[in-house]
Amino acid sequence: MMGSDQRVVRAARVSFGRDEDTDELRDKKLIRYLFKHKHASPFEHNIIAIKSERSEWLSILDKLDNPTVQIYYAGGYMWLNLRNLINGRDVFKDIYDAIEERFPTVTGVVKKDGEIEDEELMKMRYSRDEKFLKEKIETSAGWVGLVDRLEMDTDMDYYTFIVECPLFVARQWHRHRFGSYNEISRRYTAWDIKFYIPGYLRKQAPHNKQASLDEPIGEPLNSEYLRIIRKKVEESKNIYEEMINNGVAKEIARGILPQFMMTRYYWTVPRIALDNFIRLRTHEGAQKEIREMAEAIESMVGYKGTDRKNIL
Ligand SMILES: Cc1cc2nc3c(=O)[nH]c(=O)nc-3n(C[C@H](O)[C@H](O)[C@H](O)COP(=O)(O)OP(=O)(O)OC[C@H]3O[C@@H](n4cnc5c(N)ncnc54)[C@H](O)[C@@H]3O)c2cc1C
Repeated sequence: MMGSDQRVVRAARVSFGRDEDTDELRDKKLIRYLFKHKHASPFEHNIIAIKSERSEWLSILDKLDNPTVQIYYAGGYMWLNLRNLINGRDVFKDIYDAIEERFPTVTGVVKKDGEIEDEELMKMRYSRDEKFLKEKIETSAGWVGLVDRLEMDTDMDYYTFIVECPLFVARQWHRHRFGSYNEISRRYTAWDIKFYIPGYLRKQAPHNKQASLDEPIGEPLNSEYLRIIRKKVEESKNIYEEMINNGVAKEIARGILPQFMMTRYYWTVPRIALDNFIRLRTHEGAQKEIREMAEAIESMVGYKGTDRKNIL
């Protein structure tokens, strides 16, 4: 198993940029709230691998009535996340006791269908992460941290990362759909708005329309445009703050903030999709900012080539 009760809460709190803060009592109440209001995506960052025969997996699939429940089979294990387990709980009754060891608050809340009084909730056990991050690498456009890994030498080994990067890098990253994301929400919070300012402005590549050359445009244009970028970014932040102070909703005021703005998200991904990401995004055709991040990920967890199974 990978994850903890606390992991659910961290993935939920990244919405308002507070994933580093945890507190047992508030966290337990948040888990109950997430369950009752069906805010389910934070449960996806907890992964369960169950040793089983292929026939057992097929028989589970046969019993499932809910087409959203995704259960994979690789390397002699069934793989699913905690959200899938909860949605398929009728067919997974037998393994609830084992799961309870790892996620005591979540399973307690689920068993009571969320109808659990504070007093009982407070008495319940609660599991924590050993560390916030196992490893962290800074790049020129942000950082990537390894939160956790569940490695059984299969194509579906799982990894969780935290990424801080500019919006345009996140747009490219989120095209990698096989996996789970929870991201800071600029509808919720105006907290800690930061921007990426490149060290220099790269030249357009002459033949590849979407690529750049890793060399600066000539001076004085390079310095002049960088000065303008810094000024415009600062101006947009000032207008944003002024709007917030005058009662404009964050969800609409954020429109003034440029693509250089930093965002932050949790990313939980199986090895086969991670290898696909590493291969595509460490390639020289990928944008430098995401390439550096993919290289950082490769240096932390390696590339195993499992994605070569896909012909398309
Ligand atoms: C250099 C570069 C340029 C790009 N330019 C553009 C662009 O101009 N516009 C644009 O929109 N995107 C662009 N992309 C994004 C690209 O189209 C992919 O969306 C992205 O690379 C994610 O790859 P993926 O779909 O293989 O990964 P994932 O979404 O993580 O999927 C992993 C694997 O799961 C399988 N899979 C996932 N979902 C499905 C599905 N619905 N049906 C069948 N199989 C599935 C596939 O085998 C896939 O390889 C670009 C990517 C790169 C690297």
